[in-house]
Amino acid sequence: MAVLKHDVLVIGAGLAGMRAAIEAARNGANVALLSKLHPMRSHSGAAQGGINAALSEDDSWETHAFDTVKGSDYLADQDAVEILAREAPSDIIELERMGTTFSRQEDGKIALRPFGGAGFARTCFVGDITGQAILHVVYEQVLKLGVTVYEEYFCTSLIVDDGVVRGAVALPMVTGNLVPVQARATVIATGGLGRVYLPTTNAIACTGDGMAIAYWAGAPLQDMEFMQFHPTTLKDSGVLMTEGARGEGGYLLNKDGERFMSKYAPQKLELASRDVVSRAEQTEIDEGRGVDGCMLLDVRHLGEAKINERLWQIRELAIDLANTDMVYEPVKVRPGAHYSMGGIKTDVDGASPLPGLFAAGECANVSVHGANRLGGNSLLETVVFGRRAGAAAARYAQETPDGRSLSEAVLQQDLERISSLMERSRSGERPAVLRRELGEMMRADVGIFRTGEGLESALRKVLELKERYQRVQLQDTGKVFNIDLISVLEQGFMLNIAHVMVAGALAREESRGAHTRRDFPDRDDEKWLKHTLAHCTSEGPRLEYAPVTTTRWQPEVRTY
Ligand SMILES: Cc1cc2nc3c(=O)[nH]c(=O)nc-3n(C[C@H](O)[C@H](O)[C@H](O)COP(=O)(O)OP(=O)(O)OC[C@H]3O[C@@H](n4cnc5c(N)ncnc54)[C@H](O)[C@@H]3O)c2cc1C
Repeated sequence: MAVLKHDVLVIGAGLAGMRAAIEAARNGANVALLSKLHPMRSHSGAAQGGINAALSEDDSWETHAFDTVKGSDYLADQDAVEILAREAPSDIIELERMGTTFSRQEDGKIALRPFGGAGFARTCFVGDITGQAILHVVYEQVLKLGVTVYEEYFCTSLIVDDGVVRGAVALPMVTGNLVPVQARATVIATGGLGRVYLPTTNAIACTGDGMAIAYWAGAPLQDMEFMQFHPTTLKDSGVLMTEGARGEGGYLLNKDGERFMSKYAPQKLELASRDVVSRAEQTEIDEGRGVDGCMLLDVRHLGEAKINERLWQIRELAIDLANTDMVYEPVKVRPGAHYSMGGIKTDVDGASPLPGLFAAGECANVSVHGANRLGGNSLLETVVFGRRAGAAAARYAQETPDGRSLSEAVLQQDLERISSLMERSRSGERPAVLRRELGEMMRADVGIFRTGEGLESALRKVLELKERYQRVQLQDTGKVFNIDLISVLEQGFMLNIAHVMVAGALAREESRGAHTRRDFPDRDDEKWLKHTLAHCTSEGPRLEYAPVTTTRWQPEVRTY
């Protein structure tokens, strides 16, 4: 059996995975980067608005850290937030030295725009294609460093030997023959889970794979009940209209033309944090002040020149997808599923509690976002903690002996899983039906406003879908590029992830950040200032709780 062998295996080639691979390679490790997509197609490339760092003279890393902690509704671990904010400026300078063409001020310095929940303009950007621009330069570094890239390899599981992670099993999509990739350290950087909801701002590939794979292998998932709903997404497609539109001065209006945010966040208005703005919009819509179930995003007063310079991508998206030219008319937007605050629990060096396993990026939970992430902090997390995880994985690999050789047995479980899918009768349900039902249910019952009753019903639905999944059928039973098979495997990951999200949300009887319970409308620090940890068992998730690390900011009432 051909076993591919490396010191460090990074699964996922978005910004977090590529930044981890670069750092591991710089530290002398033999690194492999494995991805179900070509690296440049990772969802990081869709990031529009920008990346945060306290770069202006009147700003400071402490203010950035405080804004992040307040934004998190005090659930973030403050030691991790301090690292994020303190290391941000040097990581941005490094991205710029690698070649990122950040937008500039008149005097040539990197331009900054204000983002929601921030005390200062501290978001660096490349127009509204920031993710695409950074992904390019980071990929160049990966190639320059000679990292082995296994492109269009779909990871199906981790290899755990005696309680230690020793690599992963992957399906090269072009052959359809499973291969083991042995590694002394493994970094999961597989991104978000937005597709558990419909619609969502997330790309089709954001199906929470790495979270489910780590969870099955025994790593706990943390704070999975916290899902961010972005305030400005297009109505039917769910496509994102960047927060940069409000950062540049755009307004949100209800059907009466009122800037309704003045009622909900008198100081910050449209630039309150995302949970606050999304709840406000949903309240306006529910109380009958919406237009077609939406609010209006108005940037007309910025003028065509500025829109073309700073927001041209979303102008084009609105023309193509909503038949609206934002230079002349406001565009209809509504809150949409956007970002998973929860993920694989890690320490500040990306290490999970499972030896040999590291995680970084959206699939990880360090935790810097707590119950609500600030815009611009996620791209930042990918570079800061991707770098730290890559360095730590290289160190771990150096200190770890190679161990015994892997046998073919490591493939057994996945071979059986796939052949049982292939051999099923063709009369069962199609995976697309389950995907749609799951997505619509999550939107309805595990959305912006939640209730115990809705969550109970969500739990029943997840169990029903899991049961129906046992009979889901494939139409394509070929080996080469079997997208049907990939889709079914992803569906299996999503159902497990949804189960964890619902269980966490049902248990958490309070409202904090993005998790709003109508039946428990207040934040309850006495009972609930703690992280939720979910462990995988055959009966579903087993929940336990862990303390939040507080360094210098005690919880306060949160207003904007
Ligand atoms: C539309 C949009 C706009 C955004 N704008 C901003 C912004 O302006 N600022 C900001 O801070 N944040 C923004 N975000 C959030 C941010 O972009 C993401 O959280 C971040 O880029 C995630 O990076 P990542 O490296 O963790 O994952 P991704 O970039 O999603 O990469 C995941 C990688 O994992 C691979 N993968 C997944 N599953 C498997 C598997 N089973 N086997 C093998 N490989 C696998 C994929 O191929 C991919 O390479 C935005 C998000 C969206 C959706």
